[in-house]
Amino acid sequence: MRGHDEPFENLKGPFDVIVVGAGINGLGVARDAAERGLRVILLERDDLCSGVSAWSGRLVHGGLRYLEHRDFGLVRESLRERELLFRLAPHLVKPKRLLMPTYSHNRRPAWLIRLGMIAYDVLSFDKRTGRHEKLSAKATVARFPGISQAGLQGAVVFTDGQVEYAERLCAEVAIVAAAAGAVIRTKAVVEEPLLRDGRVVGVRFRDSRTGVMHAVEAPLTLNFAGPWIDRVFRRGAPPQPRLNGGTKGSHLIIDPFPGAPSDVVYYESRTDGRLVLVIPWMGRYLIGTTDKRFDDEPDDARCDADEMEYLLGEVNALVPDARLTPEDVLFTYSGVRPLPYAPDVEEWEVPRTHILHDHAADGLPGVVTAVGGKLTTYRQLAEDAVDDAFTRLGRPIPPCNTAGIPLPGAQGDLTQIRAELEARELSPLSAERLVALYGALATSVVDEAAGDPSLLSVLHEPTGALDVELVYAVRREFAVTLSDVLARRVLLAFEPGHGLEVVDRSAHVLGSELGWDSERQRAEISEYRQWVSRLAVPSLAASGAGASAGDAVT
Ligand SMILES: Cc1cc2nc3c(=O)[nH]c(=O)nc-3n(C[C@H](O)[C@H](O)[C@H](O)COP(=O)(O)OP(=O)(O)OC[C@H]3O[C@@H](n4cnc5c(N)ncnc54)[C@H](O)[C@@H]3O)c2cc1C
Repeated sequence: MRGHDEPFENLKGPFDVIVVGAGINGLGVARDAAERGLRVILLERDDLCSGVSAWSGRLVHGGLRYLEHRDFGLVRESLRERELLFRLAPHLVKPKRLLMPTYSHNRRPAWLIRLGMIAYDVLSFDKRTGRHEKLSAKATVARFPGISQAGLQGAVVFTDGQVEYAERLCAEVAIVAAAAGAVIRTKAVVEEPLLRDGRVVGVRFRDSRTGVMHAVEAPLTLNFAGPWIDRVFRRGAPPQPRLNGGTKGSHLIIDPFPGAPSDVVYYESRTDGRLVLVIPWMGRYLIGTTDKRFDDEPDDARCDADEMEYLLGEVNALVPDARLTPEDVLFTYSGVRPLPYAPDVEEWEVPRTHILHDHAADGLPGVVTAVGGKLTTYRQLAEDAVDDAFTRLGRPIPPCNTAGIPLPGAQGDLTQIRAELEARELSPLSAERLVALYGALATSVVDEAAGDPSLLSVLHEPTGALDVELVYAVRREFAVTLSDVLARRVLLAFEPGHGLEVVDRSAHVLGSELGWDSERQRAEISEYRQWVSRLAVPSLAASGAGASAGDAVT
């Protein structure tokens, strides 16, 4: 595993594959490739899970709405992967009941929803969770007392999955990838291909901390940069066809409100017939999402006032007592969906499945780009890409084992681990938190304080987060900056204060570990504050023509 002071010489290789991007898909492919014996280097512009993998609805789902597109293959694949993730990462990916109410004013009639449910059950014939249930209007109100009853016909209740901490899923896949031999280098911005005799033999990348350019060679480069795929090789390469046609989706984060449901609620918008989700998440609610065309730098995607008004209006229509206003929005987040570019078809016809695009015909032989790919299906995309990589490298394809090996946090009895942590004098809150975030790795987190028991002090009272988690993140989980740690490892960024109340202390603890002087600590804090500003609630003064979800159907 890489320590923070590992010298750059380790990057010399030789490597078989360069993976660009450490979202869930790039990490999945790096892990699978390394476990099957390929020498892999993964280069990430910022940090693990710093792209759209962190900005999703965090559902591990079959994609009920894809049935409307008759994309049965994708639904079956997603449902199969959902079941696998329940087994491979049960500490992170959990079954959730979804309630889907039907109203007389809905565009989708109740019989169509029922038909969809039957198809969903048939396509998930191997699931271990229950089949869908049909509820009368009365039973729906009994289950969700706050729901609007005007025109309510009833509901269906079914199971999908939720990964509350997608960042932790990425961190664990990274740990496994590195244990299998993959070299993971963050803050490494791939800027151009290395061409030799008309073939791509590697990439040039810039270390964003030092500004120094480096080169790394491998016969195959896998571009897994999510919504950035078209931006990776803009320099030093012939013009490439546009592959990404992603749209922006935003979420609002709100405290529990009057009438709020205990299930995930998935329902048809009154405004435009899109499907809206109210999702219990980290003790609060995640409300989403929208779907707006977005061609700018994906990192600049922000929730705008129209999206906020639209989403608040939809929740207030579902839950009359909610009466939510912009003041109730704690924070927001937005991301750009990596979808294939398909300008000549309606949005609903855009294929949602993943595609591996070979750039040989575009003058960049040696580069393959992954287009699309959901959080839910990352393991299958990785398997497909690694099979394909072996073929391209002219080697026999070894079997893929990722469907059979649980992630490290799943390897242990969590009840026993929680009891052991409490026996080590951690508060029940801290023990619960550690098990929820790290699963069976919670013990390793606490063991990291062996040389300095003061690290077991509570850093953040409301969550029970400990100082040692900060240190663990940089020693064991590839975190390099304060933002990496607070935003994507210990997840204090998603608490109401964004962890800013403990930012000085966090910088100090990390400073002691990494040798940051006070100037560096100040710079890290300022960078984190800048990152937090992306979660801001939009100002209504910026509102345009009124509430709208966007141009497309998710
Ligand atoms: C609003 C919304 C809701 C969604 N809801 C769900 C859901 O509920 N369930 C689900 O399964 N999916 C959902 N998705 C889709 C899912 O989030 C994505 O498809 C998935 O996370 C894509 O992962 P990725 O690894 O391909 O991309 P990313 O996570 O974006 O990773 C790409 C990485 O490449 C890096 N990178 C970019 N350029 C370079 C470069 N030049 N050099 C090095 N690195 C680079 C980026 O920094 C980034 O970390 C949703 C998406 C959105 C937008």
